[in-house]
Amino acid sequence: MSLRFEAIQNLVTAPETSVKASAKVTEIFGKNVFNLKTAREHLSDEAFKSFLSSTRSGQKIDRTMADQIANGIRSWAESKGVTHFTHWFQPLTGSTAEKHDSFFTLKTDGTAIEEFVGDALVQQEPDASSFPSGGLRATFEARGYTAWDPSSPPFIMEMNNGKTLCIPTIFVSYTGESLDYKAPLLKALDALNKAAVDVCNYFDKNISKVTATLGWEQEYFVIDEALFNARPDLVMTGRTVYGQSSAKNQQLEDHYFGSIPGRFYSYMRDLETEAYKLGIPLRTRHNEVAPSQFECAPIFEEVGLAVDHNTLLMDVMDRVARRHNLRVLLHEKPFAGINGSGKHNNWSMQTDTGINLLAPGKTPKTNLMFLTFFVNTIKAVHDYADILRASIASASNDYRLGANEAPPAIISVFIGQYLTKALQDIKERVSDKMDETDESMLKIDIHRSIPELLLDNTDRNRTSPFAFTGNKFEFRAVGSSANCANPMTILNTIMANTLQQFKTEVDELIKKGEKKEIAIMHIIRQYIVESESVLFEGDGYSQQWENEATKRKLPNVKTTPFALDAMITAKAKQLFDANNIYTKNELEARHEIELERYIKKVQIESRIMGELATSHILPSAIRYQNLLAKNIRGLKEAGLSEDKYANQKQILDKISEHINKTSDLVEKMINARKVANKMTDTREKAIAYQTKVKETFFDKIRYHADKLELLVDDREWYLPKYRELLFLR
Ligand code: ADP
Ligand code: MG
Repeated sequence: MSLRFEAIQNLVTAPETSVKASAKVTEIFGKNVFNLKTAREHLSDEAFKSFLSSTRSGQKIDRTMADQIANGIRSWAESKGVTHFTHWFQPLTGSTAEKHDSFFTLKTDGTAIEEFVGDALVQQEPDASSFPSGGLRATFEARGYTAWDPSSPPFIMEMNNGKTLCIPTIFVSYTGESLDYKAPLLKALDALNKAAVDVCNYFDKNISKVTATLGWEQEYFVIDEALFNARPDLVMTGRTVYGQSSAKNQQLEDHYFGSIPGRFYSYMRDLETEAYKLGIPLRTRHNEVAPSQFECAPIFEEVGLAVDHNTLLMDVMDRVARRHNLRVLLHEKPFAGINGSGKHNNWSMQTDTGINLLAPGKTPKTNLMFLTFFVNTIKAVHDYADILRASIASASNDYRLGANEAPPAIISVFIGQYLTKALQDIKERVSDKMDETDESMLKIDIHRSIPELLLDNTDRNRTSPFAFTGNKFEFRAVGSSANCANPMTILNTIMANTLQQFKTEVDELIKKGEKKEIAIMHIIRQYIVESESVLFEGDGYSQQWENEATKRKLPNVKTTPFALDAMITAKAKQLFDANNIYTKNELEARHEIELERYIKKVQIESRIMGELATSHILPSAIRYQNLLAKNIRGLKEAGLSEDKYANQKQILDKISEHINKTSDLVEKMINARKVANKMTDTREKAIAYQTKVKETFFDKIRYHADKLELLVDDREWYLPKYRELLFLR
């Protein structure tokens, strides 16, 4: 029996998995996190004070206190049965990394003890050679080390029966270059904080800190593990490279907000319990549009923590799914013909006085502050659209962007009709001759219309990659498998830079004698004029928009190797250098790493396509071809007239055609790969993989293979079909 039928058989006989009824969320929430409350219980006054100040400021822990703090953390962890610890970090491989060490050690006299010293908490040196560095370590002959990031609390990861203490860290080279996603993110958040506080102080001198906030929405598919294992393409690449659409897919829209099927429901409850223990504040769970597709979203948090929680959750999702004999697919487009998965990044900024800077204010003054940050965001997205596009570029997201159910590769901003009108008003009313006595332009009555505004933006345009949703922007083009750190680093950097520029321009007008509010209004007006071409309220999926965007000169880069160019332009180097995020070397290294990752991904997909064609699809088709040939021969020998087996001949003819085409194209694709592999320039190689391998062959090969799936006897087909992957549970 083939794996396919075995899987279907097992699925039918598998008992329903059950989960223990979970306790109240408040009882388990943060149970496995070394939060401030736990720290208070396990640290001396002195150590707690030092821990608290590092947590608040994100500054390095005081070296003299490190031993005490490490001891406190260990005593907490041991009380929960933890035996090992690891520095937990987010290298540029796209997943998380851990290296487990035991608390156990031997004294010089051979006595066994458990210890966790300050040095082990603060800094470690993982074997860094296996992580991508884009040549950075080679160039600088420097090793890499991980350093505790006190802005993210230590936590305990439970796996099967083991428990490990995880210390969130950044990963940097000895000469200071970032080797991970987290270090640049922290720098960007710092830059944003400084720039935003400066601008806030125009309105309110009490504001001394601004934190960016992030609420991600994680979309994913869940399928049965045995069916997953019978699809080598899913195992190797996370997506199906072949597969005929099933008779029914998402057209009835009966999955969205439908009841969650039993087995998946147990999984989700189990996942939530694990997430709560880790302090991940998951709130919503629901079905998505496509069959077997779901979404979960937490309550928003400060960006750094939200990023950690998302990467952690992606890991936990996978582990918990296996407990239920399920597999989670985080790929952006696991199945052709139905919706893909994204990870909307809801983003805003919050002051230490409790104000959401993207929430319209209740008075004209707070309104002006809202308008300032709102318009600066639009300006930032307009000016750096190419860099923002690059921040979400990946081989897997290329399948989703612009695929009719996902935001296009054109970056535009949706703000709703109410705010569109408000910006138009400002454009018309604010004029050069205006002076202090002309206060009419300061009367932007946004605060009077908050209910309408919220309504306008809740029922919003779902086709926009960057939409204002009432009190935050939602960056919708981020891929489901991405680490949010990258787009968040870029978004916060471009925002910081735009705010700095804004402040410089306003200050200049003030210096010339302009009243503060009027100066601000002038620059706001100027920014509206300069960036309005990025605003778009229509259907982002339509061809008209592509045409219109070309007219507006908005970048529309469809594939990753080209999109990544934006990261190494003079403009990008200037931006990241000025804000202390990336040096020129770091940018070039990252560019190289991203290209290499792209090449590898497409290469693996191409290989699995070839392999499955020759070892799965063609053998099935040829066997059926033989059967038909034999049948025709037999009928002929029996003396039947030709019209009696005309249909069999027709099927045989079609099958033979698709067999030839499939095998011919696979051969040619392999040759194209060989040519690409010889290229030494990484960018050229990536482009060759994109244009000469992927674009030229993938869809064509798939077309013929999928036709064969339709023609060949079902019993002869080895790969689980879409209807089984998506509808059997
Ligand atoms: P939808 O699915 O309609 O986009 P959801 O309610 O599922 O809306 O998601 C909204 C997300 O926005 C949640 O994750 C929520 O935490 C987040 N969010 C709300 N306010 C803010 C904010 N000020 N900053 C960042 N994220 C926010
Ligand atoms: Mg959303």
